[in-house]
Amino acid sequence: MTQAFVGLGSNIEAPAIQLRRACEALAALANTGLIAVSSVYESLPMGPRDQPPFLNACAQIDTTSDPATLLTDLLGIETAMGRVRKRHWGERCIDLDLLFYGNTSVQSERLTLPHPGLYQRDFVLKPLGDLLGNEYLMPNGVDIGTLLRKCSTHGLRLSAVQLHRGEIPGNPL
Ligand code: ATP
Ligand code: CA
Ligand code: CA
Repeated sequence: MTQAFVGLGSNIEAPAIQLRRACEALAALANTGLIAVSSVYESLPMGPRDQPPFLNACAQIDTTSDPATLLTDLLGIETAMGRVRKRHWGERCIDLDLLFYGNTSVQSERLTLPHPGLYQRDFVLKPLGDLLGNEYLMPNGVDIGTLLRKCSTHGLRLSAVQLHRGEIPGNPL
């Protein structure tokens, strides 16, 4: 069993509902259990500015699937939820990034682990800090708090949206 983390993002088609649906889909994956979901944050888009703000959160999972299979599962959830890729870093109903998978490093054409944006994105690090604490050492050996202080800001704000309070067995939220 490996502990892994998934970054969730959505900025169109009722983002709060999209994040909830994605959590349900993660919980339903074969060989994978949903352990916890972070608070939800609103953030300014990283790419083109002419798109709505994002809702972001992180999910902690336990899995016996290998990283490539897990990525296939995540991309499958995106497709099932109707994601259409239009422009780089553009609007999307759901984005599921495999942030890290234990201490595993992967550099393949379709999968990079840890995720290349992991250490530079406040909208990923802040929700990860909710789940792990800001003292937690990331796979690169640097704690989340230090990384957060160094990364550029995307106008992060805590959202009133909450995911699955009490609905997921074992979810400490
Ligand atoms: P970014 O990866 O910078 O956050 P993005 O999420 O908008 O950008 P996508 O269009 O969702 O990028 O993904 C493009 C491809 O990235 C996917 O098809 C997948 O093969 C690849 N990829 C590589 N590493 C990962 C990872 N750790 N998690 C998710 N996708 C990954
Ligand atoms: Ca992404
Ligand atoms: Ca992605």
